[in-house]
Amino acid sequence: NAFVAIVGRPNVGKSTLFNKLAGRKIAIVEDSPGVTRDRNYTRAEWLNKHFTLIDTGGIEVGSEELIPSLIKKQAQMAIETAHVIMFVVDGKEGVTLGDREIAQILRKSSKPVVLVVNKVDNSKMSENFYDFYELGFGDPIEISASVGLGIGDLLDKVVENFPDDVDLEE
Ligand code: GDP
Repeated sequence: NAFVAIVGRPNVGKSTLFNKLAGRKIAIVEDSPGVTRDRNYTRAEWLNKHFTLIDTGGIEVGSEELIPSLIKKQAQMAIETAHVIMFVVDGKEGVTLGDREIAQILRKSSKPVVLVVNKVDNSKMSENFYDFYELGFGDPIEISASVGLGIGDLLDKVVENFPDDVDLEE
């Protein structure tokens, strides 16, 4: 089985993207100690390639202090489980400290990372586009999860990034 994790700080649009990509919800699991959260899994398919998508969000963040530990948990979990990581950032807000923290953790792993600039709701480029290169994952893919722009390009890039030995059959 092939796994793709969606990682990013709160409010960048992870759940919106997950729902956009979701086919059939197959499981909701697990409370980890200290933090109650859902981990959503769904099967997704693109051009006859099949994989399981993991949304690492789904937590209410009430205070800023929670964010660093949340981010670490999400990123670590994604690194352990996923073959490809979608790292979602907010094209309207630009690069934030939280983005930099996540990027630092992801860069230490050997997993392929697709950088996804969300909330680009029209054909104009995000005015922050070039700032996202500093995160160290090359060319970002611009999407609008809510409008549904750029999703095909994103899935193309995800599929390209699977290691050769990963089975993308159903
Ligand atoms: P998460 O915390 O990362 O899972 O983010 P959510 O999916 O809950 O989205 C956070 C907020 O951003 C919500 O108000 C969404 O409606 C909004 N949002 C998500 N995707 C987009 C998008 O593509 N464009 C715009 N303008 N807003 C979006």
